[in-house]
Amino acid sequence: MEADLSYILNHLGEEREKYYRAVSPPIFQTSNFCFPTVEEFRAHLQDETQGHIYSRGKNPTSDILCAKLAALDGQEEAIVFGSGIASIVTPIIALLQSGDHIVSVRNVYSWTTKLFTQLLPRYGVTCTFVDGRDTAEFEKAIRPETKLIYLESPNTFTFELQDIEAVGKLARSRGITTLIDNSWAGPLLQQPAKYGIDLVAQSASKYLGGHSDIVGGVLTGPHRLMKKIFTEEYLNLGPAMSPYNAWLLLRGLRTLPLRMEHSSKSVMKVAEFLAQHPKVERVIHPHHPSHPQHDLAKRLISAPGGLFAFVLKEAGIEQIENFCNSLKRFLMAVSWGGHESLIIPVCATIKKEEFNPSEEKHRYIRMYVGLEETEVLIEDLSAALERL
Ligand SMILES: *Cc1c(COP(=O)(O)O)cnc(C)c1O
Repeated sequence: MEADLSYILNHLGEEREKYYRAVSPPIFQTSNFCFPTVEEFRAHLQDETQGHIYSRGKNPTSDILCAKLAALDGQEEAIVFGSGIASIVTPIIALLQSGDHIVSVRNVYSWTTKLFTQLLPRYGVTCTFVDGRDTAEFEKAIRPETKLIYLESPNTFTFELQDIEAVGKLARSRGITTLIDNSWAGPLLQQPAKYGIDLVAQSASKYLGGHSDIVGGVLTGPHRLMKKIFTEEYLNLGPAMSPYNAWLLLRGLRTLPLRMEHSSKSVMKVAEFLAQHPKVERVIHPHHPSHPQHDLAKRLISAPGGLFAFVLKEAGIEQIENFCNSLKRFLMAVSWGGHESLIIPVCATIKKEEFNPSEEKHRYIRMYVGLEETEVLIEDLSAALERL
C-alpha cells in the first residue's frame, strides 16, 4: 500500500497479528530479550540492528515508532532518544573527531550553542558560526577540516531561515555531512531530506509528543550514516528512549496532522492581531508577510509553525513583565508544541540588571499558540495590552 500520511500514522510498522490484534500496540516494558539456543543468541549478538537483545538498543515499541518517523521525514531510518538534545549530540559525536570543524548557523538552540562553544572544544572539535540567511557565508567558512554543516531553519528565537536546498547542494559538492534541527516545522511542514539534507534531528518533546508529557528526540537519515551512529555511539552513550515514552509518542503521533493544522491556522490569526495592534511594534514569524524571508519560508515550509515572537512598542522591563503576568490563557513556561499556549519573555532569561531596552532582542516575547480557541487567546491578549 502507498505510504500516504494516514497509512504511516495508522498502519506502518504495526504488526498486530503478533500481539492479539490489539489496535494500540503494547508497551514492551522489558530490558532484555531471551534466546532458545546459543546459535540464535550468537547470531543476534553479531548485529544488534537485526533483532532485539537489550532495550538500550532496539525495542519493539520503539521500532513501530521509528518506522513511522523515518517515513514521515522521507528517510531510510530513524532512531529515538531520551531527549531532543541527545538526538543532536549523538550524531555529532559519532561523525566527528578531534581536529574536525563545524560550520553552524548562528542563534541555534541554547544547549546546541553550549555544545559547540563549550563541550566539543574540550575534545578538539571547533565551530564557526555564520549568518545563515546568506548561503555564501557557509561557503566562506568551510575549511579543509570541515566535516559538518549544522542548520536550524528557522531557529526558535530570532526565526531566521536558511535556504536549506542551496546549503544542501553546497555541502554535497564538498563532501560535507549536513545535520538540521527541524523542531520548529516538524516533518509535516518541512522535509529537509527532500532538499538534500543528510540527517534530520528534532525534539519529540514539542509537536510530535504534543501533550507536554514526555521529553524525547528523533534522528532520521540514510542507512550509510545511521548504522554507524546506532551500532557504535548510540549503544555506547546510552541515550535510548524508554518503551513507555515511545508508546506515548506513538499516541501523540496519531493526531499530529490535526494538531498542526489547528496551531498553524490559529497562530497566523494571533500574529495578525498582534501585528495590527497599536501597542505592538512588530511580529517575527516566517509566514507573516512582514518577515524579510517570507518568500523563502513559503517555498520551503508548507504551513506556519505555532511558535513566533513579537515586540511591544516602547516597552521597558516593567511593562513586559506586567503584560506577561496579566495573561490568563497563556502559561509562562519553556518548551512548546503541546496543547497549551505558552509565553516566555526574553527578559526572563537574563538578569534584571542586564536588561537593555535599546537591545531589541531583550524585548522579544516568544509565544506558542496551542489548541485553544483562537478567539479566547486573542481576547486574553487584547485585555493584557489594554492594561499596559
Ligand atoms: C526543545 C528544543 C531542543 C531540545 O529538545 P529537548 O527535547 O528539550 O532535549 C532542540 N532544539 C530546539 C529548536 C528546541 O526547541
